[in-house]
Amino acid sequence: MPDRTAYPERSEMEAVLDHFERSARSYLDVVDERPVLDPRAAETAARFHVGLPERGTGAAAALEELYTEGLAATATTSGPRFFHWVTGGSTPAAMGADWLTGLLDQQGYAWLGSPLAVELELVTLDWLKELFGLPGGWAGVTVTGASMANFVGLAAARQWWGERHGVDVSEDGLAGLPAMPVLSGGYIHASAVKVLAMLGVGRAQVDRHMRDAIGRVDLSSMEGRLKELDGAPAVIVAVAGEVNAGDFDPIDEMADLAAEYGAWLHVDGAFGLFAAVSPRTRSLVAGVGRARSVTVDGHKWLNVPYDSGYAFVHDKGLLARAFAYTARYLADPDDPRPNMGGLGPESSRRARSLAVWATLRAYGREGYRMLVESHLDLAKELADRVDAAPDLARLADVPLNVVCFRYDPGGLGEDELDRLNERLAERIFEDGRVAAGATTYGGRVALRPTIVNWRTRSRDVAFFVDVVRELAASLRAV
Ligand SMILES: *Cc1c(COP(=O)(O)O)cnc(C)c1O
Repeated sequence: MPDRTAYPERSEMEAVLDHFERSARSYLDVVDERPVLDPRAAETAARFHVGLPERGTGAAAALEELYTEGLAATATTSGPRFFHWVTGGSTPAAMGADWLTGLLDQQGYAWLGSPLAVELELVTLDWLKELFGLPGGWAGVTVTGASMANFVGLAAARQWWGERHGVDVSEDGLAGLPAMPVLSGGYIHASAVKVLAMLGVGRAQVDRHMRDAIGRVDLSSMEGRLKELDGAPAVIVAVAGEVNAGDFDPIDEMADLAAEYGAWLHVDGAFGLFAAVSPRTRSLVAGVGRARSVTVDGHKWLNVPYDSGYAFVHDKGLLARAFAYTARYLADPDDPRPNMGGLGPESSRRARSLAVWATLRAYGREGYRMLVESHLDLAKELADRVDAAPDLARLADVPLNVVCFRYDPGGLGEDELDRLNERLAERIFEDGRVAAGATTYGGRVALRPTIVNWRTRSRDVAFFVDVVRELAASLRAV
């Protein structure tokens, strides 16, 4: 306990810098080998549950406690073996820029809060449009991730839809309007459904047109519904890179439907939009530039730190009307110096554009093509290892970077296999050397490791398969 009240002092920064350098070095030394989860995580985290300190410890002691006591409760999501969800790493350039972002602590809301952050946001949104082949004239905004990017895209869609009915829904609300029709296949992401709840459209409005249990879109059924709507405006949601197997909705054909029936096409390309970066996979996103709104994540395949995502909308006016707000002291919406707060949900915002700029500046289009292609190769390698293992069965093709498979030693019924794979997923997390979670694919329980971290190499993929087989065999033995 210090003998006097601890209070922020300039003189503390020396110790803070020193601590940072030591902890960064020690972490980066082991991040490639560290288990992704520590069996002591729960008890370690629980030790932090204490009451508000009356007298503080000062910065150096607080940071020491945070790092040395807290480390065992972290998940190594920035390391190469966290294959759960779609968890990207952080490139050296992006990580370094993120440290600078904390150092400079810019207010990214409007130009006056940070000319640099705002200019870099505009520049990086332009660069990302180029990287993905989206029309240069589209508006964009940086948000916390694809969930909020879906919110922005679908808020623009809702604005358009209301205006088609002669109502400015941002101004006057939804009262008196019919339900907003939302058409999708079975791949629609849970976050897009949640967004419809947030927008007052309602989760139940999602009308899924599927031709099988996997969720592939049934275009003729979707067209039938559009015909029934008889010219009433509707929103179509397509997915570029679905989470279970990395499959794609046929975006070009859905764009045809949208064009023919006057609907809005929203494409959720949280990680799958990166297919555009390689000629090997570019055809998977053909037609994406015909959409009206497109979302993509940064903290997934761009490998910038959490949290970072981007929404692109073809018509800036819709965005501006959906997110307009004014107060005497806020940036004037007509100020020619950009006011990013007026194009998205947040006012004060972290200067996320610094990390995006740094990584694109450091590695360029070529570096990202290599990154994506190395992950395509690793996914193929993982699929080959699954195919070669007598006790593993792949359930889906691997168009991109997700490998959907299950443990199947032979001779077991479907229910038993489901239970076994459910247990296997739990065992993987208890064990903690690698991470990959269970999903349901076409009604069957499966694992779906995804590769989006620049640190991941062949040896990590081989290690993953070995660990999964070892744990599965040990489950069978008990
Ligand atoms: C991850 C993901 C999201 C949600 O993104 P967050 O960054 O977690 O908000 C939405 N759609 C798809 C297809 C995703 O893979």
